[in-house]
Amino acid sequence: MSVDLVKHTGGCHCGKVRFEVLAKAELKAYDCNSCSICVKKGMLPVLVPKENFKLLEGEEHISCYTFNTHQAKHYFCTTCGIHPFYQPRTNPNGRGISLHCLDEGTVKKVNIVPCNALDWKNWQKYLDENPKARNLTENVE
Ligand SMILES: [Zn+2]
Repeated sequence: MSVDLVKHTGGCHCGKVRFEVLAKAELKAYDCNSCSICVKKGMLPVLVPKENFKLLEGEEHISCYTFNTHQAKHYFCTTCGIHPFYQPRTNPNGRGISLHCLDEGTVKKVNIVPCNALDWKNWQKYLDENPKARNLTENVE
């Protein structure tokens, strides 16, 4: 079943990094407080397939931070330090967009899923039990 997707735009704070995301108007975001870096960032990731994400400007202003398994790629603007998106550890074909970095005007509603009970192992279990989350289709189908 296909749904109407809208083009959301967003970026970092200083404006050097700009991107667009094709996704539903009603988004699902994770209140990720099971991952040490998301806690410190206050990250609310919106997960989409990477083909639904397009970097428009600022590639030369982006740096990447990794830790632990170094599989997740946490991208940030080298000027303002804001982290508009990342590549998830559990799915390199996805992009996690920071809800706070989306521009106003196109998001109709946000359903925030709390992750406080999920640690790394439970997150994998959650993905196994929620194929739309695992396949990154929950915001595009
Ligand atoms: Zn910036």
